[in-house]
Parts: sequence; structure tokens; C-alpha cells
Amino acid sequence: MIRLPVLRPRLPSAEQLLPYLRTLDICRIYTNHGPLLEKFQARVAAQLELHDGGVVCTSSGTSAIIGSILASAGRATQQRPLAIVPAFTFVATAAAVMQCGYEPYLADVDADSWMLDPSSFIHHPVLHKAGVVVPVAPFGRPVPQEPWFEFRSRTGIPVVIDGAASFDTILQAPAKYLGDIPLALSFHATKSFGIGEGGAIATQDTDLAARAAAALNFGFQGTRNSHSAGTNGKMSEYAAAVGLAELDGWKSKYTALSNVMALYRQSMETAQLSKLLLASPDISTSYALLACRSSDEAKSVERSFHQHNIDYRRWYGAGVQDHKYFSNFPRAHLASTSDVLSRVIGLPVAPDLSETEVERVVTAIREAISG
Ligand SMILES: *Cc1c(COP(=O)(O)O)cnc(C)c1O
Repeated sequence: MIRLPVLRPRLPSAEQLLPYLRTLDICRIYTNHGPLLEKFQARVAAQLELHDGGVVCTSSGTSAIIGSILASAGRATQQRPLAIVPAFTFVATAAAVMQCGYEPYLADVDADSWMLDPSSFIHHPVLHKAGVVVPVAPFGRPVPQEPWFEFRSRTGIPVVIDGAASFDTILQAPAKYLGDIPLALSFHATKSFGIGEGGAIATQDTDLAARAAAALNFGFQGTRNSHSAGTNGKMSEYAAAVGLAELDGWKSKYTALSNVMALYRQSMETAQLSKLLLASPDISTSYALLACRSSDEAKSVERSFHQHNIDYRRWYGAGVQDHKYFSNFPRAHLASTSDVLSRVIGLPVAPDLSETEVERVVTAIREAISG
């Protein structure tokens, strides 16, 4: 059996890129808010039902988090040195807060939603030392604005949502998932909407968006004079060209990914395992997750995948605290994070994953679980 990769991204073809690349030849503007970026930002804003100026494109999802923090909370202070981030995330969330001078405080997530629960934080003892809170959309499950808006109003602590993988899920209800709290998106090749490397900040607060854009361009505000903490996190015209072509094909890519998830659902149902599958529309179409009932069950599925030459991924590993560099930062008791991440396995995904390939995956799961 040939190896089945865990992810086979498909981005726009050379053919689809060519018209946009020709614009580059004509304009000879290659970065710094050229015509392709302006067009891409406006089209993303329209897609998200935001006003022009509500979307700031960035060089990565990580720089979108950094820009959002610098524009809302600024850099860490002596009085508020901590950033509260969930341990249940890709390590980029913790890396981003550190780039803004914060020490990450790794919090546990709710056992069911896999997200930070704002109501459990209102009286948290570390809150008075926190300069920013960064809730994460786990596997793209979108974070509602309202509870965090209320949290911010009550505590005065800025909030930035790491919704890196949630581009497709927030489109289900933009009004619920977009608002004054800035949302950081990733357009990494592995995400459903992918351009290679890139990202965006999306918010209804256009002043905040303008400050974020400045922070990601060395703190320049119109002139070449730095007014705030900053870095270079801009999106180039080349990346914007890929973004425009990806938008052109987005509808059909999303349909293809959704069809793959329907195949998983069908096949898991036939195997009477549908309760273990977590997929779109609950989470992003870039993930199909097997949520096993125990870590032992997960290990036996992994063994079966090895035997069948099927790739899988523990996308968030065992949690941020498990990374060597982050193992000594302050943290809560991470019961839910450890439990859930010991049971969840990322299954193969591609827009062109075939029915036969899905069957192959589900057969391997069935063998492990019934055998
Ligand atoms: C992908 C991802 C990021 C990082 O995005 P990049 O574009 O790779 O910088 C951050 N947080 C989460 C939850 C992610 O899934």
C-alpha cells in the first residue's frame, strides 16, 4: 500500500496565478500596500461582511496575533507581565505573546468546547497580572465574540482571538464571530483557505485595524517615523496574488473539502463509529478528527495506521506545556488539555481525498477499535 499523507494541500495553479502575476510586471510594486493587497483585503472584508479597513493582511497567522496584541494591549508591562493563553493550541499562540514581551500563562480549556471559558476567569488569581488574554479557536471551532466582549468590558483586559484555522467556520455566521475583539486568521498552506504563508486581522474596530497595520510596518503611521512598537509583518504583493487566486477558487475548494467530510461521516456511520468523528461544520474543513474514548484506544488506532501506512497528526501535540521551551512557564492544572489531546488524532485530509482513501482510513480505525 502506498503511503497516505495526512495532508495534501492544494493551492492555486500557475495558470490561475498568471493574470495576477502580470499585474506585478506592469505595476512594479512588490510590497508595501500595493494594488493586489488592496484588492485582496477588500475582497476578504466583503467575504467576512466587514467594512473596508476591517481587514489587515499579514505575513503569517502568527504576525496577525502579534499585530492584534500590539494594537490592543501593547507590549507587556511590569504591572501586567502575563498573557493568558490556552495550553490547548498550536505553539504559535504562545510564541506570538512572547514576541510582544509577555510571559505566557498556560490555562486549561473547557472539557466540552475545548476553549477558554471566560466566565471561569473573572475571579482568577492571575488576572490582575494579565495584560492580554488570547482565546483560541480549537481546530477552527469558532470563538463567539459576545462573552469575550463582556469579559473585556468587565475586566478592562484586552482580548485577541487566535482564530487561525477558523476562516471557513466564521463564514457560517460572521455577525456572531466578528466584532470589536480582533480575530487573527492564518492563510498557511495547511489551513482550508491557504496561500502558502500569510494571514489577516479581522475586526469591526477599524481604528484598531489601522494601529495593527502600523505595528506590522515598524510603527510607521503615514510617515517613515516610528510611533509605536512594531515589526515587519506585512503581506507582499506576491502573497496577495496567491490570495486573489485562492479566493477565485474558494467556493469550489470549500465544496470539495466539505464533500470529503461527508465521505468521512458516511463511512464512519456505516462502521458504527460516527460518535468518534469530529469534523465540519463543528470545526474547520482542514481537519477531520478522531476523538477516541481513551488514550489507549488512540494508541491502538495509531498502531493500526502505522500498519496500513496511513499518516496521521497530533496537531497540537500534548499541549504547549509539553514543548521543552514552554515547560517552565506558569500554568494551571491542565486536566482537560491533557485528557483531550491524549485521545484526539488528526486524520488525512485533502480536497481531492477519494472515497477509496477514506474507506482505507476508516477500515484501519475499525480494525483497531473492534480488534
Ligand atoms: C496555524 C495556527 C497558527 C499559526 O499560523 P501561521 O500562519 O502558521 O503563523 C496559530 N494558531 C493556531 C491555533 C493555528 O492553528
